[in-house]
Amino acid sequence: MENKVRVRYAPSPTGFLHIGGARSALFNYLFAKKYNGDLVFRVEDTDIERNVAGGEESQYNDLKWLGIIPDESPYEPNEKYGPYRQMERLDLYRKYAEQLVKQGDAYYCYCTSEELEERKEAQLLAGVKATKYDRKCINLTEEQIKKYQEEGRKPCIRIRLKDNHTITFNDLVRGKVTFTCDDLGGDFVIVKSNGIPTYNFAVVVDDHLMDITHVLRGEEHLSNTPKQIAIYEMLGWKAPEFGHMTIIVNENGKKLSKRDNNILQFMSQYRELGYLSKAIFNFILLLGWTPEDSKELFTMKEAIEAFDPSRLSTSPSMFDQKRLIWMNSNYIKMLSDEEYLEFIKPHMAKVMDLSKLSDEQILQIASLYKEELGYGAQIIEPLQSIVSPKEIESEEELALVNSDTSKKVFEAFVNEIKDLEEITKDNLKVAFKNVQTSLGVKGKDLYMPIRLKLTSVTHGIELINIINILGKEEVINRLEK
Ligand code: GLU
Repeated sequence: MENKVRVRYAPSPTGFLHIGGARSALFNYLFAKKYNGDLVFRVEDTDIERNVAGGEESQYNDLKWLGIIPDESPYEPNEKYGPYRQMERLDLYRKYAEQLVKQGDAYYCYCTSEELEERKEAQLLAGVKATKYDRKCINLTEEQIKKYQEEGRKPCIRIRLKDNHTITFNDLVRGKVTFTCDDLGGDFVIVKSNGIPTYNFAVVVDDHLMDITHVLRGEEHLSNTPKQIAIYEMLGWKAPEFGHMTIIVNENGKKLSKRDNNILQFMSQYRELGYLSKAIFNFILLLGWTPEDSKELFTMKEAIEAFDPSRLSTSPSMFDQKRLIWMNSNYIKMLSDEEYLEFIKPHMAKVMDLSKLSDEQILQIASLYKEELGYGAQIIEPLQSIVSPKEIESEEELALVNSDTSKKVFEAFVNEIKDLEEITKDNLKVAFKNVQTSLGVKGKDLYMPIRLKLTSVTHGIELINIINILGKEEVINRLEK
């Protein structure tokens, strides 16, 4: 590539980092790093009513958590290209908008929103399907302008689209794409009457001034691209190359909507549940991109090496939650003892008081679950059943723990263990053997009532481990209750 590759991730700080945004950021990052380029983190904050406090920082931090490290951002500016927040760049947009007006490619429009609405209604009534701005202000006389100004109207600036113009570009994902100016919905606004630019205008000025060479973004922006290219043409600038990634769909094939409560969609939610950033990164990597071989687990370094934008998928990508859990469980298994301890402690702390235990003891308990965890918070339920069991509800199980035989088993078992210094796998075996011989009860009838009495559930980790977690005294308490 002739120029240095420069790509950007340009979120609007209207919320936390979403799975779709994370995917755009990741693919831009891989693209940059594959070709020794830079990733710019630019904040598109012009929709001021929708900005939320902390949105920018949380998105930035979540990116870093995923291992996506921008080369430039409001926090690491390059003098040549900053500032990196659009609301700090208003003068630049104004300058180029005025240039467009001067050269006849844009014009001031004084129509109020009520007037626009009224005329749109009229178009609809007349059977117009694709309504568009009727160009009332395209050739205002000095007199008309004066009159509007005296009325106190504040104008917006609209682009003046060329008639019968076609715009074609070569999309990195879908190949040749063509739009006619009719598809653009009429002379669109580039600067609103409050002086703030619209997305389609600001993005062109920024991408140009920031020397952006490639734009990878979601399919929802496909229809914006010809509008942006029209502006590049008018300003005599070379447009970057564009690639539009396909939509992400849920398991029913429906487009993932931020309101879909069946799928967690924000990075912060995954982090809280105990997903590892490496797993999320790996999962997102395969959400719309396929490697040449069947490899499934990638480190960032491997992903950069393997990344090939021509393998971005052209059909929707399915968000497969089971695959995500599978991936996460793989990464959990790879954690060292130290890492695992760090990772699992906050989840365990939700059910037990860890302050009384040494790290070694905590690790001992936590390790019992390591193999089976899909994500960190999955340790909570089984641990809870040991530490603070619920009441038994099933009639059958109640009958079992309350039977005369079971009561005898509890008594005999308590007698066996009460004088033991320490309960080990071996002496527990002996204890059971003794109970078995004296009462003639064996197998399931012997172990199940004890397990049930101790934890209220019939499944879980080995009994010896449960006893170790609870300690002898608590075991005796529960069995005598
Ligand atoms: N701020 C836009 C968004 O969040 C960025 C779109 C683009 O990449 O051009 O969707």
